[in-house]
Amino acid sequence: MRYAILSDIHGNLEGLNTVLEHASSQGVDRYVCGGDVVGYNANPKECMDIVRGLDMPCVMGNHDEYIGQDCDLSAFNPIAQEAVLWCRNQLSEEDRQWLRDLRYVRLVDHFSIVHATMDSPRYWGYVQDANDAAANFTYQSTGLCFHGHTHVPQMFIDDGVDIHHGTFIEPLKLQIGNRYFINVGSVGQPRDGDWRAAYCIYDSEEETVELFRLEYDKETTKSKIREAGLPERLAERLDYGK
Ligand code: ZN
Repeated sequence: MRYAILSDIHGNLEGLNTVLEHASSQGVDRYVCGGDVVGYNANPKECMDIVRGLDMPCVMGNHDEYIGQDCDLSAFNPIAQEAVLWCRNQLSEEDRQWLRDLRYVRLVDHFSIVHATMDSPRYWGYVQDANDAAANFTYQSTGLCFHGHTHVPQMFIDDGVDIHHGTFIEPLKLQIGNRYFINVGSVGQPRDGDWRAAYCIYDSEEETVELFRLEYDKETTKSKIREAGLPERLAERLDYGK
């Protein structure tokens, strides 16, 4: 089985369509989503419809939570507040209910997905180094788990002695006995200095995980952000992948 694992789509329709086209050319059988379908970019509804249409198992991201629920936004900075309120207004009550119904952790066949980290999936901690990953592994019950949230593709490997932190230079070959916590990067707002949309393909027969980076029509995404009256900073950052 070949799984496309997508995360942090963030309402970026051009990024999502580019990734889906590529995944289908790669013979993907099943699509899986690590959360944050909405927030930041201007097509939240369209991206949600695609995720639902493809019947993707999906977990709750922090933006899905802020936008689906009526939580208090007074602790948010003004740009974030404005973006969340704009997005709530784009969605129907049914759409927001779909977001509220997302689970924090899911098992997909033999692997798991979580947006942020297994040790506190509702508190949105950022896994950035081996120490953070150690806390996750304490609660990770499957050998393989995919996540997102930092928008930085990277991998953490627990070989039973140490936790190794790495990036995708070539496809990762999974080894029996190791445990893996893999960040698939962001489709809609990469933050590792590379503006191209990111996603991974997990091949469960070959036991490989491969990262792909794809150029997409970000000029259209940027003009939609401007037309929607969303903060300019959200358009600019797409150029830098920050
Ligand atoms: Zn995100």
